[in-house]
Amino acid sequence: MAGKNLLMVGAGLSGAVIGRELAEAGHKVTIIDARDHIGGNCHTERDGETGVMVHVYGPHIFHTDDAEVWAYVNGFENFRPYKNRVKTTVGGKVYSLPINLHTINQFFDKALRPDEARAFIEAQADTSIDDPQTFEEQALRFVGPDLYEAFFKGYIQKQWGCSPTELPASILKRLPVRFNYDDNYFAHRFQGMPENGYTAMIERILDHPAITVELGRKIGRAEAQSYDHVFYSGPLDGWFDYELGRLGYRTLDFERFTYQGDYQGCAVMNYGEASVPHTRVTEHKHFSPWESHEGSVLYREFSRACEADDIPYYPIRLVAEKEMLGAYVEKARAERGVSFVGRLGTYRYLDMDVTIREALDAARAFLDAEKAGNPVPAFFAAPV
Ligand SMILES: Cc1cc2nc3c(=O)[nH]c(=O)nc-3n(C[C@H](O)[C@H](O)[C@H](O)COP(=O)(O)OP(=O)(O)OC[C@H]3O[C@@H](n4cnc5c(N)ncnc54)[C@H](O)[C@@H]3O)c2cc1C
Repeated sequence: MAGKNLLMVGAGLSGAVIGRELAEAGHKVTIIDARDHIGGNCHTERDGETGVMVHVYGPHIFHTDDAEVWAYVNGFENFRPYKNRVKTTVGGKVYSLPINLHTINQFFDKALRPDEARAFIEAQADTSIDDPQTFEEQALRFVGPDLYEAFFKGYIQKQWGCSPTELPASILKRLPVRFNYDDNYFAHRFQGMPENGYTAMIERILDHPAITVELGRKIGRAEAQSYDHVFYSGPLDGWFDYELGRLGYRTLDFERFTYQGDYQGCAVMNYGEASVPHTRVTEHKHFSPWESHEGSVLYREFSRACEADDIPYYPIRLVAEKEMLGAYVEKARAERGVSFVGRLGTYRYLDMDVTIREALDAARAFLDAEKAGNPVPAFFAAPV
């Protein structure tokens, strides 16, 4: 099979991993990104003032159950053990998240054992709600009004810009409470943080003689035509110049500030109340606990509706968006020579491990299609 001339739009994890796999298979790969750095939203860089490794687009913690993906990332960067332990400030007090036995005992000023706590929370739950339709109903049914008001209501309102009564119950699938003292945010087998940041890892993924990277150039549908095949990890609606409208996203604003010493004693402090405008404060030096820095750099994080010039972060995927998404997916399937990949190309929230898994699978599916002489699909992972 002769090497093809392939274009990856986007130098985030999707473009980098697919590009690397296809370069190794003998193709010539060009990767173009509109930003002036590689790494997409996982980008990390050293803060000029404090020397702290900063997660520029918000904190990224690597966690997965996928052994192949874990081996893949460890092949490009040394991962240090890291557990995400999140705190939240509500009503002038600090609690542990996700809600666990410590949170329950502190919040209700009790010393319950697991079985007692389970019975106590069951007694709080609003069992008159038979068939919860909204997030609020689901939360009230699971945990009752006190925990709901303190830990969910205000936070969800800030995060999604709407009342929990307007969000579907399906968002809260399981009982969001642990009846033990486990405060490890993620339940995955493999968890860690890249020793030198995600950008260093992605730099190594891109370090292949058949890969060329060009930064600071936005590329559209017309320009992409000169390649044998395009893997597009930009926004799906953007490929079509938003001709059917814009898919809804939430964006984030980060307010940077510095501090001498240790500002909050942990990496992530949430703020549950609607009256506090930010959702959380992240102290980046705590994401690299093996390093030592006197200065500290922090981000106050604010969530709001995404406008045309903002960075799209979280897809909203409510009823109206799903309809528009269906129409864009149909248009995408009618295109030739382009596959839509990654979190923006498929309009889904994807953790890094899922992004890498899908990228590896996409590269394999492309090679299989080429070998069999079949058309390359518009999507390797269906957005709807
Ligand atoms: C705030 C936040 C926190 C997160 N935290 C975690 C976490 O803790 N753990 C975890 O596993 N995952 C986390 N994620 C998810 C993680 O960021 C994604 O899995 C990952 O970034 C997806 O990679 P991607 O390549 O698909 O997309 P992106 O990283 O968005 O990369 C797409 C790239 O394409 C470029 N691009 C788009 N359009 C064009 C165009 N027309 N021309 C040229 N370039 C273009 C963009 O500039 C961008 O660099 C988080 C995400 C967010 C938003």
